[in-house]
Amino acid sequence: MSKLKIAVQKSGRLTEKSLNLLEECGIKISNGARKLKADVANFPIEILFLRDDDIPQYVEQGVADIGILGQNEVSERGKDAQVIENLGFAACRMSLAIPKDESYNGISYFEGKRIATSYPKILTEFFLENDITATIEEISGSVEIAPGIGLAEAIFDIVSTGSTLLMNGLKEVEVVAKSQAVMIANKTLSEEKQQILDQLLFRIRAVRSAKENKYILLNAPNEALDAICKILPGMKSPTILPLAERGWSSLHAVVRESEFWEIIDQLKNLGAQGILVIPIEKMVL
Ligand code: ATP
Ligand code: MG
Repeated sequence: MSKLKIAVQKSGRLTEKSLNLLEECGIKISNGARKLKADVANFPIEILFLRDDDIPQYVEQGVADIGILGQNEVSERGKDAQVIENLGFAACRMSLAIPKDESYNGISYFEGKRIATSYPKILTEFFLENDITATIEEISGSVEIAPGIGLAEAIFDIVSTGSTLLMNGLKEVEVVAKSQAVMIANKTLSEEKQQILDQLLFRIRAVRSAKENKYILLNAPNEALDAICKILPGMKSPTILPLAERGWSSLHAVVRESEFWEIIDQLKNLGAQGILVIPIEKMVL
């Protein structure tokens, strides 16, 4: 039986979260010590550990069938692999930054300037679209020090909190693209591998929707139930069970994490008591 080969970053910011995601999908990685490959005991996949720069090429050539990496690397280096799923972690921006004391008056600031980056393709496309002529200095790491050492007047790089920019006396002035971890796949998977991939995607979606939702239990006076049901949609509708105390019910529902605080306030105002909020491990819709 063939195995689906999945490429994961060998050692870096994506490694732990990629492996966690697979583990939450019930995938047990057997030889923990990371070599080039790891076997999985209970699912027909094999894990290849690679530098993230190399993952698009390996997937395009079919050495790996699928890969987990940043959208930024796919946009810069991918040619023929398809993004099949957003994975929601490693969110960041790809931004232009300039020395913090410079005044910024819009994109034309970059006309005739030298900009250091590890993402020349994305930046070239951005400047083309915006009719800017600039010199792109491609460097492979520590881009943020380039202005300080006189290599460039500005940089184009990944930003998440902005603290690296700040430490280097730079400020973010233009967000060119957003990025997050994604899954890419080879375009011509065998039917057998496609089936394994579909199973994996099913599990990934169940894990991710569980994370986005909470299970909520509360007690409420019966006369408030109608109003409470209106703000608690649940998967179909809330479950309502009578309490031993007359005139009261227990109500169970699923709420989105993002709406959680707003809903809690409304519930309290409607007379709900003993509100419990519980994480959901898996959720199959
Ligand atoms: P490799 O040795 O595999 O080539 P790398 O040095 O190129 O590693 P990392 O710094 O480990 O890459 O980053 C991997 C990916 O994590 C990036 O391509 C990006 O998608 C994401 N990432 C990088 N920096 C951040 C950040 N500050 N916040 C969130 N995500 C980030
Ligand atoms: Mg890299």
